[in-house]
Amino acid sequence: MTETEFDTGPRPLIAGNWKMNAGGADGVALASAVAAGIKGKTLGCDLLLCPPAVILSLVAGAVSGSAIGAGAQDCHANASGAHTGDLSVGMLADAGAGYIIVGHSERRADHGEGDDVVCAKAKATQDAGLIAVICIGETEAERDQGDTLSVLSQQIAGSVPKGAMAANTVIAYEPVWAIGTGRTPSVAEVVEAHAHIRGELKGKIGQEKMVRLLYGGSVKPENAQELLSVANVNGALVGGASLNAGNFIAIAEAINS
Ligand code: PEP
Repeated sequence: MTETEFDTGPRPLIAGNWKMNAGGADGVALASAVAAGIKGKTLGCDLLLCPPAVILSLVAGAVSGSAIGAGAQDCHANASGAHTGDLSVGMLADAGAGYIIVGHSERRADHGEGDDVVCAKAKATQDAGLIAVICIGETEAERDQGDTLSVLSQQIAGSVPKGAMAANTVIAYEPVWAIGTGRTPSVAEVVEAHAHIRGELKGKIGQEKMVRLLYGGSVKPENAQELLSVANVNGALVGGASLNAGNFIAIAEAINS
């Protein structure tokens, strides 16, 4: 990266996390609709679609030749072995993934994944040459107790692998209480959390100012511009609103608008 790029900050990323939705022909149609919807447009951000793994290769095919990347929602930390139902980073890369989301709060809560597991998955992702989207965020109880910043510090210390670089690391700040609820933190709360995360990356990741810090949690076209113009917010991880091509593109268009 040149000094000029360093000075201007990273190119934002708008990532869609489809979760366990749109896993068949509907998902391929959604990816095609996003690709068709941005054709001829100059966006101020990169786009990423993370469908269910069963259609990852079809989605990667549907967006190939466009400015949209494909990613996975999870991976196993090992390259192969007796891990029934799991998928390795190599398998996901073969299916077209350039990014892998790790440590989403739903994985942390539903599958008991702690920072050590998240860190191992992120490392496997980066070692294979892919970009890890590492999710962190406090629960409502932690925020109410005034522990938000210490929780974020702890999750960064535990989840970001040694040797991680700005080029292969994206951090998604997703307050757990804002995911899928329609609630969002105030702008001041997002400013505080993102500035804190940027500070915590210093010394842990080279060129930490170039790490893309995404905000996630109930982002929609109506609030995208306000959230995406906050300092140190370099894009969004979008759940529900990414299931509609028009809404997803409208969020992307809110960057620099
Ligand atoms: C998410 O699951 O990462 C997310 C941010 O979901 P939503 O946008 O639906 O809150």
